[in-house]
Parts: sequence; C-alpha cells; structure tokens
Amino acid sequence: MSSLENLPIRDDLRGQEPYGAPQLAVPVSLNVNENTHGIPEEVALTIVEKLAAAVVGLNRYPDREFLELRESLANFLGHGLSAKQVWAANGSNEVLQQFFTAFGGPGRKALSFGPTYSMYPNIARITLTDYVEAERPEGYELSPEFVAGAIAQHQPDIVLICAPNNPTGTAVTLETVRAAYGAFEGMLLVDEAYAEFSQGPSSLELLPTKERLVVSRTMSKAFAFAGARVGYMAASEAVVDAMRIVRLPYHLSALTQAAALAALEHSALMLANVEKIKVQRDRIISACRQWGLKPYDSDANFVLVAGFSDPNAVFEDLLAKGVLVRDVGIPGTLRITAGTEAETTKLLAEIALLLD
Ligand SMILES: *Cc1c(COP(=O)(O)O)cnc(C)c1O
Repeated sequence: MSSLENLPIRDDLRGQEPYGAPQLAVPVSLNVNENTHGIPEEVALTIVEKLAAAVVGLNRYPDREFLELRESLANFLGHGLSAKQVWAANGSNEVLQQFFTAFGGPGRKALSFGPTYSMYPNIARITLTDYVEAERPEGYELSPEFVAGAIAQHQPDIVLICAPNNPTGTAVTLETVRAAYGAFEGMLLVDEAYAEFSQGPSSLELLPTKERLVVSRTMSKAFAFAGARVGYMAASEAVVDAMRIVRLPYHLSALTQAAALAALEHSALMLANVEKIKVQRDRIISACRQWGLKPYDSDANFVLVAGFSDPNAVFEDLLAKGVLVRDVGIPGTLRITAGTEAETTKLLAEIALLLD
C-alpha cells in the first residue's frame, strides 16, 4: 500500500489536492464556461480529414515550431500580427505555465486582482513564484488608479489581468491595461479567454508599442474547442523567444496542430453561436434580477449571481435536477455558464422552482 504522504514529494506540495472542477455526467453542464454548442458537422469533417492525413506521419515528431498553426492563429487574430509574435500550447493554462516558467520563478512575485481565475495561484505555486492578489473594490471593477496603486504597493515582477474577469464577468478597459503596464517594469499578461464575448476593444491593439505585454487567448471557450486543448498568446517576438526556451520540445502534437488548423479554417462557423450565447447570458441576468437575486453584469459567457442565502443548497438542488453550475467560493454566489437556449430554459425553470 502506497500513499502520497510516504513519498518524498516537494515539501510545498504536501497536502495539496489536484485542481479541477467536478466532472459529472449530467444533462445540463454549465460549470466550466465551455461553449455548449457542438462542433458543426462541416467542421468535424474537415478536422477528420486533416487528422487522417496527420495520422500516417505520426512515426515522425511534429513540427516543433508549429509555424503553420502560428501563421493561422496570427491571421485569425489580425492586428497586423505575424506568426513570430504568436505562440500556442495545450490550453492557455499551459501558455500561462510556460509564461511563469520564463518570467516568474523563485524570488519573483506575481500580482493579480481577486476574485479572479483560480489557476493563477496554482500555476504560481507550481513554478515557485510568489503570488499576491489585490482585492477588487466592491462591484469588482478595476480602475487605472486601483491597478497602478496595487502595483506600486506590491512591486510585482508579473501582473495578471483577466479581461473579462473570471469568475465575475467584469469588463476591463484599455485605460486600465495601459495604467498597469506603465506602473512597473515587469511582464503584464492580459488573459483574454473570453474576449470573443466582450464588447470592449482587445489589448491586442496595444501590442505594437508594448514589448512586455502578453495577450493570451484560448480555443476552449467561444471557439467551442475545449476538448482539443489549444491556447495561444500574442506578444513581441522576444517574448515568444522566451517561451521557446522553456517549452518542452514537440509539446503540441501533430494531431493537435492538425485539428486546430482545420477548426481555424472554419473560424466563422466555430464562432457562429457567440451572439446566441450572449442572448442567453443576458436572459439569465434579467431573470435573476426579476427574482431579486443580484447577478453581476457580464462581458463573458457566464454570470456570477449573488443573493443566494444558501448557494450550496441551490447547487445541490440544481444538480439533483441534472443542472451543474459552479460554486467558486464567493459567499452567497454561484457562477453559471450561458449555454444553449434549451439549457438556459431548463436552468431558469429549476431556479424559479427553488425560489418559490
Ligand atoms: C478557461 C480559462 C482559461 C484556460 O483555458 P484552457 O482550456 O487551458 O485554454 C484561461 N483563463 C481563464 C480566465 C479561463 O477562464
């Protein structure tokens, strides 16, 4: 019989649990902000074709620099970006980990603005980077003065801004991003995992003048490709060179590259449901408001709903009805992903019953 306590694991990892939201087989899964619409058949066929072509070459290692994919991602992003300014990995979580490996590490500190994405402290810990979270003011909005003040106070080497912010849905202005960049000499990463749902402009437009700025994106959310594990970033060529130093060789498999290229060929189709999802998001907000709950405005594909006297009971009751949402640990709240119209109808009907 072996158990983790008996192993000579790193001291700082003792007692830690693997991170991850519950994966439960339920009819309505609204807990990890996926695009709940399936892959269109036309796209699926192109993906299968490209995978078939890649399979026969699997005896060889893949293109370590995945330049075709980087080119395709650069074209998709626009903003005059070139392949050399784009990097990708198995999910933007891996992009973040590579970023921390290159720019964080022992003796360095990362600052972020909580409540925010719970992988930031995890990745900081894994890479032995100190981590602090400045608590957002009420309403969760970040002003230029607030971020600059927190940076002056904490003197970080890395600043993370999640825009729009997970789990609150809060939008971030470019003025705030500019203020953060100007407030220190370190690396600023703007995590735009939900940018496709957002009204505001992207920090991509700031890249030409800011060599310490990194904008990360993912195919897991709006792009409906979470299972393929593809995240990416845009930055200066120098930042990409840093990522190339810390990445493991051949980290993106030939199958991943082929699937991502095929999906990007159909980017308009893959993103076709974004507007519909926003409609469902706004429907969740207005229904919850009518019932006297306190949903926060959201610029993403999920809503943080406050005002539950017993969110845990609501979570369990919804789960019993086949609807999985997320308890992110903020008192009185639940975070709910906007799914299809039918899923939202089911969700709202069940909440209405519970509130009755
Ligand atoms: C979902 C999410 C990611 C990462 O997702 P990947 O699937 O690893 O690309 C990154 N940042 C935020 C804020 C997210 O919510």
